[in-house]
Amino acid sequence: MLIDSYDRVVDYLRVSVTERCNFRCQYCMPEKPFSWVPKENLLSFEELFEFMKVAIDEGVKKIRITGGEPLLREDLDKFIGMIYNYEPSIDLAMTTNAYLLKSTAQRLKDAGLKRINVSIDTLKPEIAQQIAQKDVLQNVLDGVGEAQAVGLKVKVNMVPMKGVNADEILDVLEYCKERNMSIRFIEYMENQYASKDISGMKSDELLELIGAKYNFTDDGFDGSSPSHYYTMDDGYRFGIIEPYEDDFCKQCNRIRLTAEGNLIPCLYFDEAMSIAESIKKGDIAGASAVLKEVIRTKPEKNRWGGEDGESSNRAFYETGG
Ligand code: SAM
Repeated sequence: MLIDSYDRVVDYLRVSVTERCNFRCQYCMPEKPFSWVPKENLLSFEELFEFMKVAIDEGVKKIRITGGEPLLREDLDKFIGMIYNYEPSIDLAMTTNAYLLKSTAQRLKDAGLKRINVSIDTLKPEIAQQIAQKDVLQNVLDGVGEAQAVGLKVKVNMVPMKGVNADEILDVLEYCKERNMSIRFIEYMENQYASKDISGMKSDELLELIGAKYNFTDDGFDGSSPSHYYTMDDGYRFGIIEPYEDDFCKQCNRIRLTAEGNLIPCLYFDEAMSIAESIKKGDIAGASAVLKEVIRTKPEKNRWGGEDGESSNRAFYETGG
């Protein structure tokens, strides 16, 4: 079992398989980066899998594939299959923008994928075009429909932004509610790569807006999820992620691996250690030692909003959010 210096059991690994994305979302990657990580620096699926086996053997029980946009990486279903066949009990999930999901959902499900998280920030094609800088909405909704049809569980993420999609909070919530998909509103996180004029909505504003139409009770946090949950009178549950709070750090059970092999103990700090060299040499003991050191040095909590206001310079498309 992997236990950090604050007695938290770390059993959740998020793996970003590429930093590339086919969207240019205003809050994440509005412009193509000056340069991508050179292809030769990316770990192959076999190399990523070698490390994942170490992590699974040490106690990781949940793995999320993310990016960039993970569906841009060829043969993702084969990678999913490798993980599933090694340990079928792994809670195997993926975060995607769903643009390419319609034609891939069945293969991913057959390979062993259980759940997906999808970003739906709007139901208006012109607003989707404005956010992603591409005409994406129909593909996204078709992809989500197909995922549900093949039996993947779907959770929706929405980043509410004033003057952009703030008037659609209830529409997106009701869209998800009608289709039996849970929704989590993610407060916009400031970062140096995002467009400068974004103004995110805070949880109290969201709750006021939803509360004007629906009654709900506050359920607090649930397990290790960073989401604060609320239940409506009819039993539908929605969540809000407030990254500027550190409440969820107490239950944090996650570490992150980038496509280059950097193992990151906390999304909000720059610190990382590479497993690339050990894995490329076939040095499994070395990779295991790096994993244990990353667990040992996992920070107690993020310091966003704190006095020194420290936060990571890493892009969300590198770590997968
Ligand atoms: N391409 C996939 C997708 O669109 O979901 C996976 C990668 S994306 C970086 C993962 C998540 O990060 C998405 O739910 C997205 O909304 C969220 N995200 C990215 N930048 C963000 C920001 N500045 N503030 C809040 N959430 C952000």
